Amino acid sequence: MVGSACLGKAAVRENYEVLVRTRAELDLTDQTAVRAFFQKEKPDLVLDAAAKVGGIKANASEPVEFLLQNLQIQNHLMEAAFANGCRKFLFLGSSCVYPKLAAQPIREDSLLTGPLEPTNEAYAVAKIAGIKLGQAYRRQYGKSVVSVMPANLYGPRDNFDPEASHVIPGMIGKFHHALETGAAAVPLWGTGSPLREWLYVEDLADALFLLLEKYDGEEILNIGSGEETTIRELAERVAEAVGYSGRLEWDTTKPDGTPRKALDSSRLFALGWRSRVPLREGLQRTYAWYLHTVKNGKGGLARAEKK
Ligand code: GDP
Repeated sequence: MVGSACLGKAAVRENYEVLVRTRAELDLTDQTAVRAFFQKEKPDLVLDAAAKVGGIKANASEPVEFLLQNLQIQNHLMEAAFANGCRKFLFLGSSCVYPKLAAQPIREDSLLTGPLEPTNEAYAVAKIAGIKLGQAYRRQYGKSVVSVMPANLYGPRDNFDPEASHVIPGMIGKFHHALETGAAAVPLWGTGSPLREWLYVEDLADALFLLLEKYDGEEILNIGSGEETTIRELAERVAEAVGYSGRLEWDTTKPDGTPRKALDSSRLFALGWRSRVPLREGLQRTYAWYLHTVKNGKGGLARAEKK
């Protein structure tokens, strides 16, 4: 999802030659293959948007894969990049790296000041290791690694699998299915009371290019839109975008996750970036992509081929 949005941005710029490999062509968990790729291509810039990602259920049920694969991907990429002349490495973390009960909105300096949210601890620990590896490369070898922490992301090419996805694609898939089958109610997870801050993937891609071109610092940077809703309010917005008017049933046996993760993005705002796509419009665009994909039989309910 993030990689594709960045490709779209790179395509309209003249100064980038893009090297893309699909997961089938280059498995980033395979260190030998990653080294061979970097020895041959020697990329100048690396934008690491590759990760094993998933929603609250996938994170909590596959901690081994979330921890292992994310460590492998980021370690292999960073090591091979700097062994082959990479000038700048952009590493994507997540707002879940911060303590579960961090003061809100969350400032970058609250990293490692308290215990993590248990439902995504494995993913967060891997991402924190990536931040620290980047800072170590800078301190020990003078390499340029910039680490960013985006708010809850969504957009075209997300994973719409109802079990493994994050909440927005999960709700889009569930409401669309309910609309098609005439279901009177849709089951949703938790109490609906947690708060989340939403970031449309195109806005993230704009921020990443700004940072590639204009920022170089050891301090991590938050990337948020400032647009925050409860999960209940989000459900109403997604239902509206899909055109579903049935009942919402909250399954409180399912976890809520962290109560709130609003980011303080003032450091990025000071560099001149602002998100441009409001939640309502982002949801419409994402649903349009989903419909188009389903209509063309490309399996909108299946996993996106590349994250
Ligand atoms: P989180 O931000 O790491 O907690 O990840 P998610 O995007 O998976 O979940 C956000 C919130 O939405 C949590 O409080 C979930 O319990 C809630 N939620 C409600 N319905 C769903 C659903 O159908 N799928 C997912 N993934 N979350 C849901």
